[in-house]
Amino acid sequence: MRFVSTRDGGLRSSFSDALLHPAAPDGGLWFPEPIACFRDLSRLLDMPFLERAVEILVRLLGDEFRREDLAAVTETAFDFPVPVVEVRDRIFALELFHGPSFAFKDFGARFLASVLERLLPDARPRTILTATSGDTGAAAALAFGQRPGFQVVVLYPKGRVSPLQEHQFAALGGNVRAFAVEGSFDDCHAMVRTCLADAGLARQLNFVSANSLNVARLIAQVPYYFEAVARVRDTCFRDAPVIAVPCGNFGDLFAGLWAQRMGLPVKAFVVATNLNSAVPGFLETGTWRARPSVPTLSNAMDVTEPSNWERVLRLFPAEGDGTTLAAMRRALRWGALTDEETKKALWELNGAGYRADPHGAVAFGVLQERLGLNETGIFLATAHPAKFKPMLDEMGIDVATPPNLAQVLARPIRAESIPANLGALMQALGL
Ligand SMILES: *Cc1c(COP(=O)(O)O)cnc(C)c1O
Repeated sequence: MRFVSTRDGGLRSSFSDALLHPAAPDGGLWFPEPIACFRDLSRLLDMPFLERAVEILVRLLGDEFRREDLAAVTETAFDFPVPVVEVRDRIFALELFHGPSFAFKDFGARFLASVLERLLPDARPRTILTATSGDTGAAAALAFGQRPGFQVVVLYPKGRVSPLQEHQFAALGGNVRAFAVEGSFDDCHAMVRTCLADAGLARQLNFVSANSLNVARLIAQVPYYFEAVARVRDTCFRDAPVIAVPCGNFGDLFAGLWAQRMGLPVKAFVVATNLNSAVPGFLETGTWRARPSVPTLSNAMDVTEPSNWERVLRLFPAEGDGTTLAAMRRALRWGALTDEETKKALWELNGAGYRADPHGAVAFGVLQERLGLNETGIFLATAHPAKFKPMLDEMGIDVATPPNLAQVLARPIRAESIPANLGALMQALGL
């Protein structure tokens, strides 16, 4: 399939080139166009997850790669379960946290690693450069950490990720270097984008970004939306389900909308955020109010300049007399929770016998507010609750820590602190 720039639709790229050069030359992001559509949906929904994921990827990437190779990549990347759990009548959790880093970022990071290793061995970059609000760093570090020929550089906002998240990428050592940046996630992300935009630097570093501005990440997230719908089909009667997505950089929401454009029946997507709520504010009022990011309990969503919003906007061109905003308001529902409301959602879920993490809880809380009578809702449970154990303990919610997560905490942190500018990073990397 082909990709065009979100800004100049005349700029085109193959998937491989878009993966290796995630920023378009005009500063835009790669956007799939045209979007392939499935006509044989019920056959597809009947398949088991892996088989279906291969079908989807062959449909999307079959012009660049052979089916056998895509199947091998899919099987190595998605080698963990993707359960759908009913948490109360007609509300389901799509659990995306059963991979090695215990968050959904494993889908994208493991897929990226697998594609680079198997499908593009000659074009292999040396450095995987990643800004993280908490979970991308761990997923990238674990996906690439043991692979010879790669070094992983993780930038994260100092003091704004949970201790466990920090241990997952900053205590690995080896070919993983972690930098605690004195700033916000938005600052870290801006550093990655500046690197991407600088051709000279990109050559010197020979790097690829594992952030969701990379289309490889997003493609890897399309198949689990099909799984969600396939598993709840029977409870929906004739209606399609409503899916709530806990949003930070809006890559996950974009992947969901992409799946919907491929023909997946979804009645509406619910944009769920914490108080970093620029997008719900925009959908509500029609104006974009930039504010500095505030730290919240759902820290991986503490993003105020979501880079994938540009991609989402391109899915909703103005039509007839309608504006883009009107089209978005028809397709989306939205809401934002305070930390207090997030805690209420966590307690409520706990009362129903389900332990969630704060990100999933935000999605659940907003879904409950926006779900109509007789509708079936699914929320994305994006991280394992054990990643937030100290906070949940304080709230009286008991979660067991999986053994391999407990081991991670025993290792010392080896992060280097740097100010939020590229010069400091280059110096630290010896460039
Ligand atoms: C990254 C992350 C999010 C936000 O996903 P985006 O694709 O950036 O919107 C939500 N929950 C968790 C646990 C995350 O790590």
